Amino acid sequence: MGGVASRRLGPAAKRPETGRPYRPSPLIWASVGLHGAALAAALMKPSSLRQTLPLLIADHLALSAAGSWTGGDLLGPNLVRLPAHAHCADELCLTFDDGPDPRSTPEVLDLLDQRSDRATFFCVGRRVARYPDLAKEIVQRGHRIENHTYHHRNTFAFRLWNGLTEEVDRAQEVIAEIVGRRPQYFRPPAGMRNPILEAVLARHDLLLVNWTRRGFDAVVRDPAFVVNRLVGSASAGSILLLHDGALGGGAPPAVDRILPRLLEVLERRGLRSMPIPDGLTPADATSGRSRRVGVDSASSR
Ligand SMILES: [Zn+2]
Repeated sequence: MGGVASRRLGPAAKRPETGRPYRPSPLIWASVGLHGAALAAALMKPSSLRQTLPLLIADHLALSAAGSWTGGDLLGPNLVRLPAHAHCADELCLTFDDGPDPRSTPEVLDLLDQRSDRATFFCVGRRVARYPDLAKEIVQRGHRIENHTYHHRNTFAFRLWNGLTEEVDRAQEVIAEIVGRRPQYFRPPAGMRNPILEAVLARHDLLLVNWTRRGFDAVVRDPAFVVNRLVGSASAGSILLLHDGALGGGAPPAVDRILPRLLEVLERRGLRSMPIPDGLTPADATSGRSRRVGVDSASSR
């Protein structure tokens, strides 16, 4: 692990939570404008709804599609690749979702230690509360813990203000209390969002982080397939998605078979994993996005 990444994971950890101004995206402004115009027209001439209703339905379909596009930023900032200034020529970011999980997280930590790789763990709040010692160990061994909601509900992207704030706020609180460091980054379940989420994240100055590439390790048990998907066109600055936890009663992903092979390929390509650096902003999400090229863009699902 180079010194650059170590310096970035510094004492900014306990920064006060001040939030940032909420800036609706152009698509959200357009949607608000359309609804306002449709309402005004309906008040003046109720029969106008016949013309405006199809437009409103199309607008909601567009918003749903934008929220399901895990690599997209039509509903707000979305970091899918590090900006150039935030990493060295040999650094990318491994990220692990859905833990901590005593069945697999300790092994992930040991494997990462073998090459002194460091990673980001998008943890589920209720699991941090259930396995506090394991959560503390993740941080003590040089990795980051970030916010992946409190319950990891499949319906997260369909929730309104109260449902979203409860999931985000509770995870934020429990992680800060147990590991002594407030998350700066947020990843929604399955990477899906809705038009309200950005306003909720802005209250905590949380930046949404999805990924450059994912290997479908939670559903595909063939290590060769997963590793090929992950590293096909991965390069310095890429954010790769893996899972160290399994939710519900299922078995955890086969990290013991996938991670050694993945680390071996990264070694051959001269790449190391660093945690997502401190303090990246919505502007960094935009500049990281502009660096995405070719196959990388097509495979961000
Ligand atoms: Zn997840």
